[in-house]
Amino acid sequence: MTKTYRILQGIPASPGIVMGRARVVSDFGDLQAAFRLLYTDQERQAEVTRFLAAVDQAQEDLTRLRDRVAAEFPEHTHLLELHLLILKDQMLYDEPLRLIREENLNAEWALHRAYERVRELFSRIEDPYIRGRIQDVESVYRRLMGLLIGQSPRRLIPPDGKIILVARDLSPAETTQMAGSGVVGFVTERGGRTTHTAILAQSFEIPAVVGVDNAIREILPGEELILDGLTGRVILSPDEAILRQYRQRQAEFAAFREEVTTNAGEPAVTPDGFATRVMANIELPEEVHLVGRYGADGVGLYRTEFLFLRLKHLPSEEELFEDYRKVVAALAPRLVTIRTLDIGGDKFLHRTDYVPEMNPALGLRAIRFCLKERDIFRRQLRAILRASAFGRVRVMFPLISSVQEVREARQIIEEVKAELRAEGLPYDEGMPVGAMIEVPAAVTLCQMLAREVDFFSIGTNDLIQYALAIDRGNKQVAAMYQPLHPAVLRMVLQVVTAAGVSGVPVAMCGEMAGDPLHLPILLGLGVSELSMNPLAIPVIKRVIRSITLAEAQAMASRVLEMVSVDEINAFATQFLKERFPDIHRFGSALAGM
Ligand code: PEP
Ligand code: MG
Repeated sequence: MTKTYRILQGIPASPGIVMGRARVVSDFGDLQAAFRLLYTDQERQAEVTRFLAAVDQAQEDLTRLRDRVAAEFPEHTHLLELHLLILKDQMLYDEPLRLIREENLNAEWALHRAYERVRELFSRIEDPYIRGRIQDVESVYRRLMGLLIGQSPRRLIPPDGKIILVARDLSPAETTQMAGSGVVGFVTERGGRTTHTAILAQSFEIPAVVGVDNAIREILPGEELILDGLTGRVILSPDEAILRQYRQRQAEFAAFREEVTTNAGEPAVTPDGFATRVMANIELPEEVHLVGRYGADGVGLYRTEFLFLRLKHLPSEEELFEDYRKVVAALAPRLVTIRTLDIGGDKFLHRTDYVPEMNPALGLRAIRFCLKERDIFRRQLRAILRASAFGRVRVMFPLISSVQEVREARQIIEEVKAELRAEGLPYDEGMPVGAMIEVPAAVTLCQMLAREVDFFSIGTNDLIQYALAIDRGNKQVAAMYQPLHPAVLRMVLQVVTAAGVSGVPVAMCGEMAGDPLHLPILLGLGVSELSMNPLAIPVIKRVIRSITLAEAQAMASRVLEMVSVDEINAFATQFLKERFPDIHRFGSALAGM
């Protein structure tokens, strides 16, 4: 029998197997609107009617969307409310009508002119956050324009469930909309395994495959798909036989997941008594319940920028404090590591907030942004310190590349502490302060940095990207993004050794820490605290409980003698296959499990 289905291969980004129908979303970047002048009253009236019909339609769509979101996530409706207000604001409503009636412009042209005027006005506003609101105006403008020219705006949330989204790319902000939306999986043409989009998909337990060539062209809207987030395969129009095969694999994977999760609460100690700490990475406060469910000892990385991205306005100190306090108090007495804002790179507050950069990954990102935008930084530090009174908190700075940066950041902490003292607000005076090691310069300087901080956390997602000069989100070079590269392993060893001399504890919080393939080598190199996507924890704990430190050290010594990454990969894979065949079986995406 000839097979009728087609297979596309991509990069596994979030584990699990799902079946659903494709919803192909196209970029809404280039609007193709026709512009013309109106000559008669009749033409003008027709354009007014068309414009008002578009506004009515947009209002209906937004209201429906708001009600749907309100039913499940009442706290997330404010953005849609805002869009409803903008829709009837004089800037986008009265002004286009005036332009049609008085200046004889067709509806599209009138809307476009009105929008350009608003944009110009916003660009002159000093406050970066009010200026940033233009993004919401733009969103409404695009929705209206789309209706006028007969295209629908990019709607991520489909009306019914069992939908697999297919897109050229999805931003982290778009991905945050997917939690609880009925989207069961997604496929993108761009992306890599350690992008924030992939990381969020894992947190939301939405299987995903990224880096699929020509997905938009190959996958038909409404086509039935099987998405295998374990191997990176996408099956198009599967026949009954292959569906059966995948249903079986799906059931086996679910059983495996359940089985490992059952023992997740047991301590992560090797059979020869080496105790490790296994922590969770979280992006949003809603993930707190995963910490307990998957047996984490605490939070090793709280990526705080997602709250900023989700709110779309600069959160007040109170909003930040409430968010942090909630997480810290819910997990007390467990440790919560709050990372200060890592904005820039692939995460931007608002398009108008920053000067476009040729290389954002090498630009005004993370600690660099915070040391420039000190008001934002101070506000966040005040909120973190205040939250430290409600449990155990430590703070860490991302993208550190010099001692100077740490000193400046710590100086601000001291100033903020003095303010809080003067105001009589409680905080933990001894709150540990750490540096993320994710830039090669920080590895080189780690001996000096160890004198400045209370702990290190190696961020391998960035360290690999910067050490190997491989963009973590570029699928063209995704195969060269190699955690077990000899240079990366030596950097890890260098940090662990220097920190050991100074008695500074070292954690690792990049995706590398949650991959069972890498784990024995990391243990052998001396990494004793690992922080990862919560779903990865049960598998990692099982591996830790099954191998001795002596065995891990022997493995690390062997790989340090190997000169090629292929050799190291083959060695690590062979070990996993022999010792943990069940884990090996479910493919390389288990890091995100
Ligand atoms: C890292 O770079 O490894 C890290 C943990 O930070 P992020 O993935 O948020 O850049
Ligand atoms: Mg990083």
